[in-house]
Formats: sequence, structure tokens, C-alpha cells
Amino acid sequence: MAVLCKLADPQAYVVSDWDLLADPVGRDYWIGHFTHHTETMLALARKQGLDEAPIKAFRQELLSELDFLRSDPAYWGPLTVLSFDRCRERLLRKHGIDDPYAQVKQAENHAAIGLYPDVLAELDALDGPGLIEALIRGVFAGNIFDLGSMATIENYHAEGMDFHATRERQPRRPWFVDDFDTLSDRLLNKPTYRHVLFFVDNAGSDLILGCIPLARHLARRGARVVLAANSTPSLNDITFPELNDVLDRLKGLDAVLANLLAEDRIATVASGCGAPLIDLSDISDACNDAARDADLIILEGMGRSIESNYHIVFTCDVLKIALLKDTEIAKRLNGKLYDQVCKFEQV
Ligand code: MG
Repeated sequence: MAVLCKLADPQAYVVSDWDLLADPVGRDYWIGHFTHHTETMLALARKQGLDEAPIKAFRQELLSELDFLRSDPAYWGPLTVLSFDRCRERLLRKHGIDDPYAQVKQAENHAAIGLYPDVLAELDALDGPGLIEALIRGVFAGNIFDLGSMATIENYHAEGMDFHATRERQPRRPWFVDDFDTLSDRLLNKPTYRHVLFFVDNAGSDLILGCIPLARHLARRGARVVLAANSTPSLNDITFPELNDVLDRLKGLDAVLANLLAEDRIATVASGCGAPLIDLSDISDACNDAARDADLIILEGMGRSIESNYHIVFTCDVLKIALLKDTEIAKRLNGKLYDQVCKFEQV
């Protein structure tokens, strides 16, 4: 495992600046969140036909870990949101529960693949700033498929995932953090990026109708784009094998994408990670190799770009793009639920 070679100050790197040892209110919030959220995850595990015994054993052990934490906040050592994610994933594997979200990811991938040709046709009819804005709005709309946030889970169960409606409902600019004009100018009027490392987030519309069209656009303009996905499952995040499977299936629908893949203009890498947040001091060697000559890094989704790495400075350009899907996280940034963040930092 490696420290990302594009960190401006690797020694000072901290994955999350929300220190939950120093913030009892924040700590209680996250203990409560993981207590409630676990029930939604286990409901999916049951739907997949998993045995009740490991589910019960997992649940009991996780809840008792959270109880320990209530009485002794330093029980896990340093405490950030990532500590909770890591505990959950460790206990899931320990009890033989590999991926409670496997079926829902598959279903959402299937649905999004069905919409892909239409979304592409819409995008291919645009150009200039209008095209860039449509691509970014597509990332925002897709990113709402998030089964880690209680707000989006409720929304998902109430309405399902309707990419077009979600995209239409996205507030117009200016967004909450809005570096779009600089980004659009950089993408349209300056020399094209040569190598983009793109950390993707969720399965379904997020990847297929948001990230892949953006990656495809950058690759068509001349960049080599490496899509980095989690090595192991976590929530509804796309995993590396699932990402490759999706790209394989899209090839048949999109000759341009098929060409870009054949020419290695779009490639994939396993990030080495297995959480919704990303610890850039602990990524796979292959992912770090892909970063070496990157002149743009894209961190997509709230976990990768807001809950972790929001204030981190890089030695190449970086795009942090996400929706704020958690009330407490939004509050910390003085924003509100579903605010859009398009933070583009140039070196
Ligand atoms: Mg996610």
C-alpha cells in the first residue's frame, strides 16, 4: 500500500479533519447514525436471502462496539467517521457477510445501463459550456443514489431512482460551492489534461450516467482517464470487479467508449480501499502508479471529497464534486441538505 504521490504535504495528511474525540455532539450523532443505518443495511442482507445467524451475530457485535465507544470514546484510538466505516466492514467480513448491497447495486446498474444511450444522445447534441454543465449536473444527479445517507435512503425507498427527474430538480447555478466557470474555461480553452485519475463513488446512475459520460468526454478530448474504484465492497459503492463488468456491458452500446477502452484511453484500477471515505495515505500501489503522471485528480461523492480530503492540497489540479447528503455534514460547511459542491483547485 502507498501514500498518494500527489499530496502537497504527505506528512501532515489527515484523512478527516472532523475529530470525533474532541466533539462529543458529533460523536453521538455518528453513533446514532451507525446504529440506525445498520438496520437498513441488514434489511437488504435479509432480502438477499442471507442466513439470520450471521446477521444477528454481526448486529450484536457492532452494537456492543458502539456501546463501548459511548462509555469510552478513545476505545478505538483516534476517532473519525472512517473509524466507524472500518469497524463495520471488518465485522461484516468477520461474520461472512460479504456484500449486503450486491443485489441492489446490480439492479441499479441494470436500470442505469438501460438509460445510458439516451443520456449520451442528449450530451452528444451539446457543446461548449452547456455540455460541461450538463456533464457536471449529471454527476450531481447520479450521486443521489447513496445508500449510506439516511436522507437519500428515505428518498430511494419513497421514489426509487429517477435520474432524469433528479437532474431536472437540481437547483440552477450558482451552486453552494461553484467553481464551474473556472472548470469550464480550463476544460474548453486550455491545453487538455493528459492524465486524469478519477475516484468514483456509487454503482448505478452515479457511475453510469454521471461519471462515465464525464470520463468519456475527457478521454475524447485527449486525456487518459483511469477510473479508481474500491477494492472491496462498502455500502452501494461500485467495486473494481463491478466497474469492469459495467464497462464491458456498455461497450456494446457505445462504440466511442469501446474504442477508448480498446486504446487504453479509459482504464480502471482498484484503489486498495474498502470504505465510502478514502484514506489517500493508504491506497494500492497500482492506484499510486496511476497517479504518478496525473495532471487532474477527481474525487467524486461526499465520502471521498467532503467527509475526507476536502481541505487537502494536491500537487496537481483537483476537482472535488459531490452533493451534501447528510444534515450534519452540510451544517459543518454552513450548507444545507442536497447542496451541490463543485470545488476545482488548480495548482
Ligand atoms: Mg458511496
